[in-house]
Amino acid sequence: MVRYPNSWEKNLHQLHVLALPEVVLSEGFWREFVCNLHCGGCCPHFSLDYLPLEFDILQTAYPNMVGQSMIVEGKTLITLPNEAQKDAYGFDRCQYLDHTNGSCGIHDWNPLSCQIPLISIYEVKGRGYITKRPFARGWNMTPLSGVRGDILCEMKAEFSPKQVRENDLIVLARMHEWAKYFEIETHLPEIIRTVREVMLTRNFVRYRFRRSQTPASTKTRSKR
Ligand code: SF4
Ligand code: SF4
Repeated sequence: MVRYPNSWEKNLHQLHVLALPEVVLSEGFWREFVCNLHCGGCCPHFSLDYLPLEFDILQTAYPNMVGQSMIVEGKTLITLPNEAQKDAYGFDRCQYLDHTNGSCGIHDWNPLSCQIPLISIYEVKGRGYITKRPFARGWNMTPLSGVRGDILCEMKAEFSPKQVRENDLIVLARMHEWAKYFEIETHLPEIIRTVREVMLTRNFVRYRFRRSQTPASTKTRSKR
């Protein structure tokens, strides 16, 4: 079962986690996460949702794509129609997944929810965490091989400045655009600033972001 058939639901859940009073940027975030071809494990059939501005950009690359507007938490989102296609084993997949090699047909312009899998955001006992890790429920995902749990995510021990520069910072900035659009006050500005600093300092430790309760807008950054 797909936990979030609506990708906007997953995005907003993650933003609310990043808005908790305390959020931890874990050491695991500094590891390189590799998504290998021929997997497609995290491309089942779910909604492909965009901010209006993001959808305008998508249409510059694909002028024939027509979205559908919807209202979520009082704001307009655009969803790209996504007909389910069955794979060789009968699983419903995203219509943009290439079954021959597991690549994404709209990779450069895919929705935020498709960029996030490399970054893991979750809540434990009221505290938010942001890290990189293979899917906790990977055992329950079925890639194109049809073998349940045989997903091809790979964690490397090393830090990859290229991944941070060309993926992580872009994804975090895109999440911050969503947060601003939905008026969710997250720790993303401090998190982004810290990630940029670590690119220079290479201080690969755990960072904590705390928001004091009074006044609500005052935030402190600390590291352990
Ligand atoms: S499950 Fe992992 S390797 Fe497979 S498509 Fe998703 S991120 Fe890539
Ligand atoms: S849009 Fe691309 S990355 Fe997203 S689910 Fe579909 S095939 Fe996968």
